[in-house]
Amino acid sequence: MSGGYILDKKLLEKRLEELATTQYTGEISHGAMCYSPMCPGPGEYVCVICNKKTEHSYGDLFLKKLMKSREIIKDLQSNGYDVQLDEREFCQYCNTNDIEFEPKQILNMRFDENSEYHTSKVGLHNLKLLQAFLLGGEYILGAYDNTVTLNESIDILSNMTGLCVDMADEWLHKVRMGDDPRYESVRWRSDGDFFEDIDDDDE
Ligand SMILES: [Zn+2]
Repeated sequence: MSGGYILDKKLLEKRLEELATTQYTGEISHGAMCYSPMCPGPGEYVCVICNKKTEHSYGDLFLKKLMKSREIIKDLQSNGYDVQLDEREFCQYCNTNDIEFEPKQILNMRFDENSEYHTSKVGLHNLKLLQAFLLGGEYILGAYDNTVTLNESIDILSNMTGLCVDMADEWLHKVRMGDDPRYESVRWRSDGDFFEDIDDDDE
């Protein structure tokens, strides 16, 4: 195991509970509300399992996100976390799932080698949240350079890590029913990653 950041399950659970009950007090950027719509073009995926190529007619954008997701996974692995990215849905030969709109990467994560992997479908946006959570960050920048805090992402973090599932359910319920303006973004958040990182070109 290399790196040194790894936090154990208990500490991460504690941190998630803290995030759920406290308020982010740093600066908030609302970002720019406009973006230039992009027309996705074709892209070719080379499978990491079977090595065969799959052509995706509108794939350049989501394949770009996949490459960035791999970087995040590498970063987490080098910090000692047991995470893997399952890219099977991108390969027409290896995939056995139904694909609704576009292929999704699947995150496998566990906290000790005797446990089974916890599995969830993830987009780049959510992986960035996970990276911030596991490496001690407080927020990420969203698709419009807007601040997305971990405090407003409790359900997403719980879903990816498998930690504090009941607490996160209660939190989400409370947030969706309540009228706390802090959580406006959660009430209007779409499921999945529809709005994620459309113009994410920072290298
Ligand atoms: Zn394959």
